[in-house]
Amino acid sequence: MSTAPAPQPPQQQTQQGKAKFNVYTIEECPACGQKTKRSFQVGDYITKDGANCSKCGNVTKITLIYAEPVVKSK
Ligand SMILES: [Zn+2]
Repeated sequence: MSTAPAPQPPQQQTQQGKAKFNVYTIEECPACGQKTKRSFQVGDYITKDGANCSKCGNVTKITLIYAEPVVKSK
């Protein structure tokens, strides 16, 4: 006999040493290809305008949003 898995509470945060992620946003300059990695901020989405390019001053676009697991040193 098998029991159905208990539904996970949707709002539970993983704060007990489980997997934790940092989310990053990549802004890419369409003119020169310069890519800038920064921390994700609420409201970011792909194709949104980013900051001005540090190289040529063009407006960058967000081309990638991804998460990296936080690596804790023991
Ligand atoms: Zn540029």
